[in-house]
Amino acid sequence: MTEQKEIKITGENTAFRNELMQKKGAERIMYCYQCGICTADCPVAKRVKEFRPRRIARLAVLGQKDRLLSGDTLWLCAGCYTCYERCPEKVKVSEIVSALRNIAVEEGLVRPTFKALMKSISEKGYIYEIDEFENEMREDEGLPEAPSPAQEEIDKILKKTGFMERLGGVQR
Ligand code: SF4
Ligand code: SF4
Repeated sequence: MTEQKEIKITGENTAFRNELMQKKGAERIMYCYQCGICTADCPVAKRVKEFRPRRIARLAVLGQKDRLLSGDTLWLCAGCYTCYERCPEKVKVSEIVSALRNIAVEEGLVRPTFKALMKSISEKGYIYEIDEFENEMREDEGLPEAPSPAQEEIDKILKKTGFMERLGGVQR
């Protein structure tokens, strides 16, 4: 049985929750009533028992910054927006996750795997290399070759946002 850690609410926790609620899409945190629909329909939660959108919403309500920003959990979300569409209170867990990731990036708490993905996008325009084998698989499925990435546009976005530097010095 997983050990349950006691959660103490301090002024710091409340301040963090209020900070989070100022972020776009995270305004309705306090409307979460823990119905669990987000978790029931989340494709990642179906496969990873540690990943519970409902828990993310609860920890956000409780302003548990350290628990939310540490570890891999935050980076497992696939951004599919199922929770966004299903939540009866329009809490938008997907947006809360994005807001938390932005805070994590600002604080230099990005997981190495995510850094590697971003490095690949900056170098190849995709999160992994699209080679002949990938295109053959696409052909088998009746799909055209993968389009060339819009590298110029990607470069512009990365430069303008200073994204790679924010990730801790991952450079092209
Ligand atoms: S975020 Fe929405 S769907 Fe998820 S537990 Fe809270 S109220 Fe329910
Ligand atoms: S956006 Fe993330 S948390 Fe929401 S259902 Fe999809 S994978 Fe789960």
